[in-house]
Amino acid sequence: MPGEKKGKRLFGTNGVRGVVGVAMTPALALSIGLALGSMRRGKIAVGRDTRTSGPALASALKGGLLATGCDVTDCGILPTPALQYLVQEHFDAGAVITASHNPPEYNGVKVIEPDGTEMGDEATIELEGHIFANDVSLAPWSGAGREVAAPHLVHEYIDAVVRRFPPGIGEGITVAVDPGCGAACGTTPAILTRLGCRVFTINGQMDGRFPGRLPEPSPDGLIPLGELVRETGAALGIAHDGDADRAVFLDEQGCYIEENREFALVADQVCRERKGMVVMPVSTSRLVEIIAQRNGCGVRYTPVGSISVARTMRALGEGGTPVAFGGEGNGGLIYPDHQFCRDGGMTAAMMIAILAREKRPLSSLVAALPGFSLIAEKIRGKDPGALIERLVCAYAHESLDRTDGIRINRENSWALIRPSGTEPLVRVIVESTDPETARAFFTEILQILDQ
Ligand code: MG
Repeated sequence: MPGEKKGKRLFGTNGVRGVVGVAMTPALALSIGLALGSMRRGKIAVGRDTRTSGPALASALKGGLLATGCDVTDCGILPTPALQYLVQEHFDAGAVITASHNPPEYNGVKVIEPDGTEMGDEATIELEGHIFANDVSLAPWSGAGREVAAPHLVHEYIDAVVRRFPPGIGEGITVAVDPGCGAACGTTPAILTRLGCRVFTINGQMDGRFPGRLPEPSPDGLIPLGELVRETGAALGIAHDGDADRAVFLDEQGCYIEENREFALVADQVCRERKGMVVMPVSTSRLVEIIAQRNGCGVRYTPVGSISVARTMRALGEGGTPVAFGGEGNGGLIYPDHQFCRDGGMTAAMMIAILAREKRPLSSLVAALPGFSLIAEKIRGKDPGALIERLVCAYAHESLDRTDGIRINRENSWALIRPSGTEPLVRVIVESTDPETARAFFTEILQILDQ
């Protein structure tokens, strides 16, 4: 099935993750370091988010890299996109110790390729092969790697984002930022200040216990950010997940902006100036397609997962098809002229550029977008593959997209049904321009699944 990771045993959609001391241990981090060092020689950058388990896991991973003869540059605490940017600029590979949006007891590793993208399925299976077979090449005493600390390199990333915008574009804009005590504490407030914004922060101190809210920037956890927005008269609130590859927003009233609407707003900004394909997973709202087409851009759907989106963007570009923009409907947006990965700091800056241009409240910009009703539910079933095949038969006469699971496309609605990679269930998403049609379509699918 396209989009599923065939043969991966440790790594999931975005790296390897697990509860610290149970599935995620220094021994595993050491194995990853040894395997990565055996596969990708040269200079390797290592970074981490703020988690309490980060120093131990980073030390173990670096140990593996050094033992295979790689030189290690420890970039300290920084967002995943910052490390990706640095790898693309200076290194032969990278690794970030992070569990992204997972709770504090989790940690993990994202492996970064020389072009700054996260390692794809094929290379990950090779990496796992080295781990399971203990197939590593240790360096002799004379070839051991050297380690340097380079916590200052994160400023290159901040500079790279700031350079993309006219100087002072944020002047007169007040913004409230909630980095969630995660990796963005050292970057997003600095980026916005450099753009000229007046910046207030909450949960702005690095703290791997995440005392203010969980690393997932959910509406429930952002109620205090909403209060800060109203107290300070800010034009918007910005929050990140633990490793800041995603950004989500509150409007000037402190109301959460659904992430597909965020994607559409930013696509509208980017696609005015940059024409080409907008790349997104089949789970994305049709709203983004409408906005892309309105700006003269095409649309390409991919399997679910940011790595699929990023790699499709690269492949299109290399094949001569211009690529304008990409992302997922979860606040993870990709700017191809900056780098081929989700970038929360860049998205925060882009939203400032939108407000500077429009000179209207964010709530009114969101309200002006076409409306859609979305239903998303999980349906349990012993054999998810068989459930999907049943739907393929039932809807054979309709417009079907088999990029990932099955997507049924209709005039004013669509449905996506995909098997979970990890549990005996299918995920169902139905969207329509009106709630009644969405509900009726959803009920129809349930009846077929229940037969
Ligand atoms: Mg993340």
